[in-house]
Amino acid sequence: MSQDLPATIAAATFHACADAIADAARELSAMGWTPATSSNFSMRVDAEHAAITISGRHKGRLGRSDIMLIDLHGNAVGTDARPSAETALHTQIYRRWPDMCAVLHTHSRTQSVASRLFASDGVIRLQGWELQKAITGYHTHESTLEIPVFPNTQHMPELVTQVDAWLDTGKPLHAYLIDGHGIYTWGRDMAEAQRHLEALEFLLGCELDLKRLRAS
Ligand SMILES: [Zn+2]
Repeated sequence: MSQDLPATIAAATFHACADAIADAARELSAMGWTPATSSNFSMRVDAEHAAITISGRHKGRLGRSDIMLIDLHGNAVGTDARPSAETALHTQIYRRWPDMCAVLHTHSRTQSVASRLFASDGVIRLQGWELQKAITGYHTHESTLEIPVFPNTQHMPELVTQVDAWLDTGKPLHAYLIDGHGIYTWGRDMAEAQRHLEALEFLLGCELDLKRLRAS
């Protein structure tokens, strides 16, 4: 499937985004966080476009032809390819925050189990962990980092509404879990988004270990 680019987007710009997505996806896949073609990744290309993974591809073996251009309403631009089913959750981040440039969504075992365990609370409150400082804006383990857990649905507008409702309360949001599904997080560049994802995977794993040990 070929990708035609609008005249305003240089091929080198799009390729740089596609390569950064493929590199990140390869690393995340190697860690086992993208099983069975799940997960999706995107990068902002300009104020009105993003590059995103084409649906159904194995995330450990992505090349430039597995990444497509969309507008910030989730429509394919210059290609017949189908974007990920969850594209609306990526474009929501880009529309809401003009400085956010990378969105990562994975389905690791730790993320999936934590989402089930904390779904009834609707939120995971992380407190006392040094690694909370890996999240931009957090400077001490004494802060509280809240990660909401939203109910899963195959109807993306419902999830978009849940995320908007959280944001409309004015509470910070750096990531969210979807029950039985996985995590979304983002950053001002791919490195920041990856740092957030790695920190959250670690922190969720610690919370699960604590629950397990306290119960035994
Ligand atoms: Zn997913």
